[in-house]
Amino acid sequence: NGFVRLGLAPELVQAVEDLGFTQPTSVQDKVIPMAMASEPGEGERFVDLMVSSQTGSGKTAAFLLPVLHTLIRRQADEEAAARAEFERSCADAAAKGEPAPKRAKRKDPTNPRHFKAAAPGALVLCPTRELAQQVAHDAIDLVKHCRGLRIANVVGGMPYQLQIARLQNADLVVATPGRLLDLQRSMQIQLDQVKFLVVDEADRMLDLGFSDDLAELNQLTAGRQQTMMFSATFAPRIQQLATRVMRQPQKVQI
Ligand code: AMP
Repeated sequence: NGFVRLGLAPELVQAVEDLGFTQPTSVQDKVIPMAMASEPGEGERFVDLMVSSQTGSGKTAAFLLPVLHTLIRRQADEEAAARAEFERSCADAAAKGEPAPKRAKRKDPTNPRHFKAAAPGALVLCPTRELAQQVAHDAIDLVKHCRGLRIANVVGGMPYQLQIARLQNADLVVATPGRLLDLQRSMQIQLDQVKFLVVDEADRMLDLGFSDDLAELNQLTAGRQQTMMFSATFAPRIQQLATRVMRQPQKVQI
């Protein structure tokens, strides 16, 4: 399978194989390795990318795969650290002749006393409800072999309660800007943990009047480590948006 050489986690390679993808498309071939390469020197920082690509080019997997890959890696690192910590405390207790410590209990997301605002690590913004649903659907297909990675969809015209329930523990949120900002203002979601931001179909975002919402979301996710913008064109207004939301983006033209 042609996805193996892109360096993706095996769970993701298995998922693309299940979907019947044998070779990366040209946008996937270019974007995935660039998006996964960390910037030297600056600790945890990845290259910002501005990509021109059409619907049908495979652009969705081009941004979902590298983001999911990094989320998987981080989750594995956190689990290993937690395990090491637990083993250390067991060894300490044994040395002192004390009983072994209990493992931390998982929080019950259905218990209102355990409620806290959702804090996803990755956010994909889409201009329309249909596109956001399609992208979330693709993301769910891609994480089918990943234990514990959760996807949530936040779009207008759907019941709030259902979306809020699904948001709990979501790692990646696919959203339209309006509904997302509603949930942020009502403190159902906090965006300061977002490390990866993707703006899909940026040209349509501007056509549909989301410029101010994008500016606000740009501020709310100011601590992020990477931004990717996908657009059919690099028209001047798209370039201006890119300058506002990205740091020296690399351009990828397909
Ligand atoms: P998109 O441009 O993201 O809307 O993708 C267009 C279609 O191509 C979707 O139906 C994908 O499932 C499909 N697709 C994406 N990547 C590949 C690939 N590498 N090989 C075959 N089909 C793909």
